[in-house]
Amino acid sequence: KNLPDYVTEPLTDFSKEENVTAYKAALEKVKATLGTDYPLIIGGERVTTDGKITSYNPANKTQVVGTVSKSTKELAERAMQVADAKFDEWSKTPAEERAAILLRAAEITKERRHEMSAMMTLEAGKPWIEADADTAEAIDFMEYYARQMLELKDGKPVNSRDGEKNTFEYRSLGVGVIISPWNFPFAIMAGTTVAAAVAGNTVLLKPASTTPVIAYKFMEILEEAGLPAGVVNYIPGPGGEVGDYLVDHPRTRFVSFTGSRDVGLRINERASKVNEGQIWIKRVIAEMGGKDTIVVDKEADLDLAAESIVKSAFGFSGQKCSACSRAVIVEDVYDEVLEKVVKLTNDLTIGDPQDFSNFMATVIDEAAFKKITSYFDVAKEEGRIVAGGTADDSTGYFVNPTVVADVAPNARLMQEEIFGPIVAFSKAKDFNEALDIANNTEYGLTGAVISDNEDHIAQAKQDFFVGNLYINRGCTGAIVGYQPFGGYNMSGTCSKAGGPDFIGLHLQSKSISTAL
Ligand code: GLU
Repeated sequence: KNLPDYVTEPLTDFSKEENVTAYKAALEKVKATLGTDYPLIIGGERVTTDGKITSYNPANKTQVVGTVSKSTKELAERAMQVADAKFDEWSKTPAEERAAILLRAAEITKERRHEMSAMMTLEAGKPWIEADADTAEAIDFMEYYARQMLELKDGKPVNSRDGEKNTFEYRSLGVGVIISPWNFPFAIMAGTTVAAAVAGNTVLLKPASTTPVIAYKFMEILEEAGLPAGVVNYIPGPGGEVGDYLVDHPRTRFVSFTGSRDVGLRINERASKVNEGQIWIKRVIAEMGGKDTIVVDKEADLDLAAESIVKSAFGFSGQKCSACSRAVIVEDVYDEVLEKVVKLTNDLTIGDPQDFSNFMATVIDEAAFKKITSYFDVAKEEGRIVAGGTADDSTGYFVNPTVVADVAPNARLMQEEIFGPIVAFSKAKDFNEALDIANNTEYGLTGAVISDNEDHIAQAKQDFFVGNLYINRGCTGAIVGYQPFGGYNMSGTCSKAGGPDFIGLHLQSKSISTAL
């Protein structure tokens, strides 16, 4: 009743002094909580274990953001039993009630907006603007999926004939395992969790081990919003132990995963096996990697091209599956675009994300730092480093934005997902060849075309093989309900988070025909 239409949550305007003051205050408030120990939450009960996951600040690598109890197989089993037992009641709770809880959770998040963002600044190394967008996206997911569930609650129209009345309705699936990533530690964690729950499923939430504290903070919001105990259970733990155990579990009905290609394939393979006592085919929703390209045509706004490449390649240190890691430029304008990109890159500010003036901060942890910086040598072999190529892990995991020129389309730098601030440039003789190079990857997540040529734009709409295509803008920053997000091939199951089909993936349909 009287629910306003969905619109995306506006971003915070940090040119206003009051917002800067509020964010700084939120940072202080979160800093006062550093080092807190957080329990698991199983059926609403707090469970503290001896084993801990320690969450560190990537910009200040010895600073502990929090310690979190670590789930084991036994505790995962307990959580499964709670979620399984809760399913019947929750799935029969009216969709309006379930949606109302999401809307209340969105309201609470709005009240706590800067605190949630500040937590990500400290736990994930997110600069203010990126953290603020992450929180706004979490709000969007709650607002959008609540409405999407209401659209589906009475099913969809089907035909009836004389003497029969037919309906087409939806039913919940069962227990879902949510395995969420650290790069959108609030938005994607919350979005995948609430989509499953609002559809009447119960959830086992295993957040990324590098960002478990923000997920705990979200659990508190869900509880305050009135989510009944046992609907979402919080069980951070190692993928190899807890993740595998739950993916294999015969009572797991579906798995919703966001993360790397390799882990996604592993989950898909394990989930495909029918285990003792299992009576269904598990569903897998997977959002995996990307090797995303911005193509620049010779008739194009070259300043726009350079800005789009730099923002998409280096925003949150390139740690988005949508990030631009390949720039394919038609040869006529190659040198000019490269020069503009190098200039913009050299002007970027890098440092502690607590300082608003820094555009970029760290990468997530030591393993990421090592992997990303190992590509510097590859870059020297395969091309020319024309910006960056340096890093510093003395206090935190800082990798400077790196531009590598003259890389061949099949080179490792053009094929492997690096998940860091490195962009490779390749030259194409014309637009056709540029599109061919863009499509020459096993991924198919995002892509952008910077062009003023209408025929080329039409050709890209047809032939650029990506789930999210952007024309004359960068390739990151999909908005819930506006640009549903998900890709082709090894980028996942093209499940389109924030799109009109997403809730349906968490439901099964039922045809009911009554003879009259
Ligand atoms: N939805 C985000 C974007 O459009 C990327 C999500 C991800 O990296 O997983 O930039």
